[in-house]
Amino acid sequence: MSKVSKADRIKVVARLLGERVCPKCNKKIDSLLYFSKVEVSQDFDLDNGEPNYGSMEDFGDHTDDHYACPECFETICTEEEDAVQFMKRPG
Ligand SMILES: [Zn+2]
Repeated sequence: MSKVSKADRIKVVARLLGERVCPKCNKKIDSLLYFSKVEVSQDFDLDNGEPNYGSMEDFGDHTDDHYACPECFETICTEEEDAVQFMKRPG
């Protein structure tokens, strides 16, 4: 009789249990993807005439930080604190 779909019920139950489920695609996820924009610097020289880049170093501030679902790539949160809380839920 319920008009609530099975997917919606799973979503609600998962939320009640505090499970680690993506709020966008409802898939259980074991980790988040961290995205950030940051300027990097690398040593640059030539190796046998070919461009050769050294290891990358952060150079400047990280901007547009966000934590996304690895399944649907939707942003789940933008604060590390919220991401930590999200990961503390049972998977
Ligand atoms: Zn997702």
